[in-house]
Formats: sequence, structure tokens, C-alpha cells
Amino acid sequence: MVRDMRNRPLRDLRISLTDRCNMRCRYCMPREHFDTNHEFLAKKEILSYEELATVVESLIPLGLSKVRLTGGEPLLRKDICKFIKMLPQELDLAMTTNGILLEKFSQDLANSGLDRVTVSLDAIDVETFQAMGDTDEVPETVLRGIEAARKAGLEVKVNTVIRAGYNEHSVKMVADRFIGSDVIVRYIEFMDVGQTNSWNLDEVITGEMMQQMFDELKPLKANHTGEVANRFLRGSQEIGFIESVSKPFCGECNRARISADGALYTCLFASSGSDLKALIRMDATKEQIADAVRSIWTKRDDAYSQNRGSAEHKKVEMSFIGG
Ligand code: SAM
Ligand code: SF4
Ligand code: SF4
Repeated sequence: MVRDMRNRPLRDLRISLTDRCNMRCRYCMPREHFDTNHEFLAKKEILSYEELATVVESLIPLGLSKVRLTGGEPLLRKDICKFIKMLPQELDLAMTTNGILLEKFSQDLANSGLDRVTVSLDAIDVETFQAMGDTDEVPETVLRGIEAARKAGLEVKVNTVIRAGYNEHSVKMVADRFIGSDVIVRYIEFMDVGQTNSWNLDEVITGEMMQQMFDELKPLKANHTGEVANRFLRGSQEIGFIESVSKPFCGECNRARISADGALYTCLFASSGSDLKALIRMDATKEQIADAVRSIWTKRDDAYSQNRGSAEHKKVEMSFIGG
């Protein structure tokens, strides 16, 4: 098993399957930056499914146990189920999606071997949903997707980003919507990812502020090391808070990311990645890919969230690197 300079293993690989998206969430891909003039990656720049599967297989001897498919919007990538079938089924296979296309794909995703899906849903009311996502889509479409995913046997979580002045009321509304179901809602603090989302600390509603919006919460123990959400019981309903701004969890961060164009990033807030595509396209063996990743990981010292504000640098966009 490989460990980085802070003794953290490499357990979780997040793959950005595409830098494209069918929404334009203001906090992620603001339309004024991601407009018709924006140059998305060309097909030949994006790693093929065969190339990605080779990377995944190469990392298993290093300790990889979980793969999350993300983006951009992963369900926009053609034949995604074909790719899921190519992945080693002993891995925990998860996806993060905005849910717009989930109703259509759920059964095929489950049949292909996907275990879990995290669906992003920032509001239950149409007006807020459309404002947050800068979209004409409606939350009902996502809710139908969630229902279809549950029926198909996928484990479903909901991720809700809370941003001051936009959707504080979603904290209660989203939890209430899933009372009595097995869907766990997790609230995410608005983060300073990328360069374009006009982040500022005043717009962060911290986990603690959100927790105060509920009458009674009982803390739960972490499920496993590297758990990103602080979990609570609200009656019999489990909810969680991903407090990466107010309570950073870099100390146990075991996540690597591959951008759609095949660069390996060791932190969500990195300014650059290491080019694996060139290596793969030189017909490197799995052992050679593993050696390259081992060498990158053993030098890893990232802890951006813990050191936030101490040094500013240019950060890669989240839709590119994979959320
Ligand atoms: N398009 C898919 C989706 O929205 O679920 C997958 C990619 S998206 C980049 C992954 C996750 O990152 C989503 O849950 C989204 O809400 C979250 N996210 C994006 N920008 C964020 C920000 N500035 N702060 C907190 N979470 C953010
Ligand atoms: Fe698209 Fe997901 Fe980013 Fe929203 S958060 S713009 S759905 S990639
Ligand atoms: Fe991991 Fe970087 Fe996030 Fe810290 S800031 S938890 S190192 S991705």
C-alpha cells in the first residue's frame, strides 16, 4: 500500500469523465465563464474508457478500493454503462450526478455494476433550484431520478450545497423531503474551488450554522476513516455535513483525482496535475503506471483546506478535475 508524506493511503479515485455539463450551477460553472465561447476538451484529449480502466487496474495494488465517476456531468458521457462494466467489480463503484438524466439511466447503471449514486440537489422549490443551477430544468426531474435509482437497487445519497443569500431555506426543505426514506442528505459548505465562482467567506453557511436550524440532532460516530461527512440523527433520519471550510478533513484525505484529459491531481485545490495521458499513450504497462503514481503519491503533502488563506494560488476548476 502506498502512503503520502502525511501517512495517508490512496484509497479513493475520482474520475472526471467529461468537463461538459447540462447545468451551469453558479458556484461551479458560472455561465459568463462557461458560455458558448468556452473551449471544452476535444474528444481526442479525453482518456478513452480502455485507458481509464487500465489506470484503475494499475492502482489496485497500491491500495485503491473505491472509484467515483464524476465530472462535469458523468451521465453526458456516451456509453457510460459500457465503462462501468469494464471496471473491476471488487471495487466500490459510485457516481456523483446532477440527476437530470438519472431516471433514464438508473436501471442500466445498476445492471452494469454501479453500487451507489450521490445526487446533487440544492433545492426542492423550482425557483431556487433554477437560480442555483442557472437552468430551466426542474427539481421534479431529479426527484424522479432519485426514485428510479432506489428502485433499481442503488444506494442513494443527496448532496446539497448551501450558499448564503441563495438557499439557506433548503437546509430544512431538503431534509424534510427525504424523511422516512433511506436517502441520506448531506449538506456541503460552499467552497472556494476554481477561479470563477466568486467565492467569499461571507457566503459560507457553516455546518454548525446549519445544525442550529434543526431542533434536535444527535451526533453519530464516523462510519470509517476518511469519512468526509459529520453525521447526525434527526429523530430516525440520518443527515450529514461536509464542513470542508469550517472543519477541514485533510488529515485523512485519501482521494486522488483524474481530470477528463488524464492528469492526476492529489488535491481538489491543486493548481496543476501530473500528466498520465502521455505515459498511457506511450503504451506504458500497468506496472509503469503504478510506479509513476506511487512516485507522485509518496511526494504528496497537500492540505489546502487546513491552510486556507495562508497562500493563494491559481486553482483548477471543479468541473474539470471532478468533484
Ligand atoms: N455534475 C455532477 C453533480 O453536480 O453532481 C458531478 C460533478 S460536481 C462538480 C460534484 C459535486 O461538487 C456536486 O455535488 C456539487 O454540488 C459540488 N460542488 C461544485 N462546486 C462546489 C462549490 N463551489 N462548493 C461546494 N460544492 C461544490
Ligand atoms: Fe454541472 Fe455538477 Fe458543476 Fe452543477 S455542480 S455545474 S451540475 S458539474
Ligand atoms: Fe484532500 Fe485537498 Fe480537500 Fe484537504 S483540501 S481534504 S488534501 S482534497
